[in-house]
Amino acid sequence: MSSNNPQRRASVGVKVGPVQVGGGAPIVVQSMTNTDTADVEASVKQVLELYRTGSELVRLTVDRDESARAIPEIRERLAKLGFDVPLVGDFHFNGHTLLTKYPECAEALAKYRINPGNVGKGSKRDAQFAQMIEFACRYDKPVRIGVNWGSLDQAVLTRLMDQNRELAQPRELVEVQQDAVITSAIESAEQAVELGLPKDHIILSCKMSGVQELISVYERLATRCDYALHLGLTEAGMGSKGIVASTAALSVLLQQGIGDTIRISLTPEPGGARTQEVIVAQQILQTMGLRSFTPMVISCPGCGRTTSDYFQRLAQEIQGYLQNKMPEWRGKYKGVEDMHVAVMGCVVNGPGESKNANLGISLPGTGESPVAPVYEDGEKTVTLKGDNIAAEFQAIVERYVES
Ligand code: SF4
Repeated sequence: MSSNNPQRRASVGVKVGPVQVGGGAPIVVQSMTNTDTADVEASVKQVLELYRTGSELVRLTVDRDESARAIPEIRERLAKLGFDVPLVGDFHFNGHTLLTKYPECAEALAKYRINPGNVGKGSKRDAQFAQMIEFACRYDKPVRIGVNWGSLDQAVLTRLMDQNRELAQPRELVEVQQDAVITSAIESAEQAVELGLPKDHIILSCKMSGVQELISVYERLATRCDYALHLGLTEAGMGSKGIVASTAALSVLLQQGIGDTIRISLTPEPGGARTQEVIVAQQILQTMGLRSFTPMVISCPGCGRTTSDYFQRLAQEIQGYLQNKMPEWRGKYKGVEDMHVAVMGCVVNGPGESKNANLGISLPGTGESPVAPVYEDGEKTVTLKGDNIAAEFQAIVERYVES
């Protein structure tokens, strides 16, 4: 953790199964499956992949009878494998019906996500929202009141637009729209409290798909309440665009101390791993010095002094090796996630960065003698040479962690 860490916004802590969100707890990483929840085998496999990568909460779609019936089975299968994964049910449109029909689903979930814009229309809206909150009260479960700009409660928007028209100096339309997103979240939370759900059972989110809009909405939301906040740029997109947009938005907010749990909504590349969103979330928190998850690999960009791709491959292999080892090492080797490993391309910056890291290797650049000095805790301990440098360095990393 960096000593420059921003002061966190004070929020009411919420227990989601064994995980605390807000109230000064470390910022929680969460993710969502993209399997058909009714496919128990595929869902258990993906929940486990996400959880083992470091997702502390995992959300699943609960959209129909089959998926509601699958939830208790998924939970049981995970428990039999020895994993207590807090599962979050994502409800839209028919959540009140599904919770009523399947109390065992209501019981098995650790949290319900309720979208106030999709709970019901007209006069039914309040009754159906109340029905879901009643289940949260009955089973002592927290809820996330999750507003999305794309499915905003139109009744709230219409009301605020009408009020705005009556003002002597009407506000900009975009400001009223953003206000409607915030108001929908806060009014729904107040309604839940009136229905008997304690404040420490409520998390709020107001997701937008534009970076500037998201920042603006959360900055205002953060000053209007002390509920724990879930951050995420919705529909962030694919590949580097999704990663950059999410990082840009979230880092501005996290730097202001706003946010108690984060989810990175990436569109996976076809055939790509769902776990990427967990790794990106962890990397945002770790590079900002807010939490540590996996030893960090520091590597230089390479230049004309690194004419082969040997050094890039070694950096990538070590990063992958550390990432894969973490489920086994986490909890077994105290502080391993704070480790820094430097993989440098030549002697220009190699020895300096290697000495600053827990472990470092400076590979031979063009024109240098074909040797790679290795540093452990600032001291040069060995010089590797030959064709086996990568495997030997990996063995040194393993020995270092285990000792
Ligand atoms: Fe280039 Fe060496 Fe600097 Fe890496 S450390 S960028 S190889 S000069």
